[in-house]
Amino acid sequence: MINNIYCIGRNYTEHAKELGNIVEEDPIVFSKPNTSLIKSKFIKLPSFSNEIHFETEIVIKISKKCYQITEDRAGEYFNEVAIGLDLTARDLQSKLKDKKLPWLLSKGFSGSCYISNFVDKKNLPEKITFRMDLNSKKAQFGETDKMIFGFSRIISFISEFIELNEGDVIFTGTPHGVGKLSSGDNIKLFIEENMLAELEVL
Ligand code: MG
Repeated sequence: MINNIYCIGRNYTEHAKELGNIVEEDPIVFSKPNTSLIKSKFIKLPSFSNEIHFETEIVIKISKKCYQITEDRAGEYFNEVAIGLDLTARDLQSKLKDKKLPWLLSKGFSGSCYISNFVDKKNLPEKITFRMDLNSKKAQFGETDKMIFGFSRIISFISEFIELNEGDVIFTGTPHGVGKLSSGDNIKLFIEENMLAELEVL
């Protein structure tokens, strides 16, 4: 069961650069509504955008209530890891950013969020590698030791402001290589060498 969906922006230096953004001192936090979740293997491109971008990210799931916890204890509050897509209407996001308006509609539209099955973190190495293949070619590759803000810092930082509870999930940011989806695309998502999801774009 997935409850609140939080996301971190610009958590990999190369990705921040590719969108022309600076690296921040604290994590950038935004959220997607629970109704943004894709519950099938199909991605429907919405009619209001001509530029739906994929962002492939490691997702962690909060295992118990935490509020204002320190970074050194944050690891106790998540046990499971998945790979997800933070789909973004980049054209709409650019317009909203220009007007200094919130990103919500460009990031939280229905069908903007995919999360694979979760894996127990005990079965994963300290440094997790992940990958997205688009039409059988590697499109994105990430290593969690390249994150600007690690899992513990992210959990501790969000919990300073917002109480987190069991079933809340956090998208931890995309590495570089984001790009546009087109109808007919095939997506495969991997953690380490294990394929956790295969999706089709309608
Ligand atoms: Mg993202």
